[in-house]
Amino acid sequence: MRHCDTLLHAACIVTQDDQRRIIENASLAIDKGLIADIGPTAELQQRWQASETLQHEDKLVLPGLINAHTHAAMTFLRGLADDMPLMDWLNKRIFPVEQKLTPELVRLGSLMGYAEMLRTGTTACVDMYLFEASVFEAAETAGLRCLGGEAVFAFPSAAFSGPEADLDATRALAEKYRDHDRLRVAVNPHSVYTTTAEILTACRDLAQELNLPLHIHLAETPSETQICLSAQGKRPTEYCRSLGLLDVPCTLAHVVDVTSEELDLLARKNAVVAHNPSSNMKLASGAAPVAAMLARGIRVGLGTDGPASNNRLNMFSEMGRAALMHKLTGLDPTLLPAGQVLDMATLGGAAAMHDARLGTLAPGMAADCIALDLSEPNLQPMYNEVSHIVYAATGMETRMTMVGGEVLYNDGHFTRFDYPALRQEMRNVRRFVLEASGS
Ligand SMILES: [Zn+2]
Repeated sequence: MRHCDTLLHAACIVTQDDQRRIIENASLAIDKGLIADIGPTAELQQRWQASETLQHEDKLVLPGLINAHTHAAMTFLRGLADDMPLMDWLNKRIFPVEQKLTPELVRLGSLMGYAEMLRTGTTACVDMYLFEASVFEAAETAGLRCLGGEAVFAFPSAAFSGPEADLDATRALAEKYRDHDRLRVAVNPHSVYTTTAEILTACRDLAQELNLPLHIHLAETPSETQICLSAQGKRPTEYCRSLGLLDVPCTLAHVVDVTSEELDLLARKNAVVAHNPSSNMKLASGAAPVAAMLARGIRVGLGTDGPASNNRLNMFSEMGRAALMHKLTGLDPTLLPAGQVLDMATLGGAAAMHDARLGTLAPGMAADCIALDLSEPNLQPMYNEVSHIVYAATGMETRMTMVGGEVLYNDGHFTRFDYPALRQEMRNVRRFVLEASGS
C-alpha cells in the first residue's frame, strides 16, 4: 500500500487524456497537489491509503475548466449597459467608470469574478486588466490559477502614467510571483490599435528577457483591420508578425478577422487562440473561423472575455454557445462537435495558459478538477457524458472545485474567503459605479 494525501471517489471520471478515456466508478489518488494515480475505485483502494477521502460517488468528475481570456475584475460593470454599439458603449459607459478605478475596486471585482468561476467549475484563467497587482491579490485569496499582467497602452491608464510604467509594473509582478505555483505573469499589450510599433517591440523584448508569454487582443473586428491598414499599411496579424510578436509563446484573443494565409502563419508559429463566442456575438464582432483553425492544428482555448461584454464568467455557457454559434454561422450541424468544444475548454485552455500540467486528469498532472451533481433534472438520463457537459449542464451543477489538490468551493461554501461579506462590499461598489457613470 502506498500513501497519498487524498483519494477522491466518483461515479465517473472524464479524463481528457490522450485516449479521451471515460472511467466509471473511478477514483483519483492525489499527492502534493498532483495526481498520483487514476483508475477504477476497486483498484485504487487496493493500492492507496489516504489521509483524507472525498466521497463523490454520485458525481461526474472532469478537469477544471480553463478560461482562456478574461478581465475578471469587470464584474463591477456587469449589466450596467448592454445592447449598444462598441464605441458608444466604451466611451459613454465603460471608460468614465474605468477612469475612476482604484486598486480596491479591482480587487473586489476580481474576487467576485473568481467566486463565479469557482462556483461554475473554472480552475484557471488568462487575465488582462489595470491594477493587475490587485487582480493577483484576489486570485491568491480565491486560490485559482491565473496567468495575468498589466494591460499596456500608449496612453495613461487609471493605474499608470504610460507604457513604460505599465511595463515596469509587469516586470515587478513577474519578480514578485517568479516561483508561485498558481500565479504567473504574461506581457499584455492591450491591442494593436491602443499601442505603437515601438511599444509592441518593447513588449516582445520583455517577454523574451523574462521568458514570459505574451497575451494580446488581435483581429477582433473588421474595423480594427481598417485602422491597422491605414496606420501601418498591414493587417493586424501580419503587423504583429512583422514586429516579431509571434516569435514568443503567445495567446491571441479573438482572431475573428483573419485570412486563410494568416491562419497558416499562426499554425506555423504555434500561436494559441482564445476564442470568445459570447463577447463576439454580443458586440456583433463576427464569427472567428474556429473550425478552420482546428483543422490546421492551431490550439484554440475558450474564453468568456470580461463580464461587461458577456455577461457571465461561466465556461459551461461558453462551451454551449461555441458549439451552437459555429453550426449556425457555418450552416453545418457537424461543426464543433461536443468533444472538440470540451477539448477547447480544457486542453486548449492549458495551451493558452502555457502550462503543460493542466487540462488532463492523468498521473503527474495538476490535481485541478471539478465534480458535477448527476442528480440534477437537466442531466437525466445519461447516455453521453461529454454531450451533457457541453449541451445540458449550466455550471450550477458544480458541487466541488479543486485546484492543486485543495478544495476551493464545496457545496455552497468558498473555503478561502467570506462570500456574504464580499456581497456586502459589492453593494458599496455598486453605489460608487452608479455615481461614477452618471447613471
Ligand atoms: Zn478582452
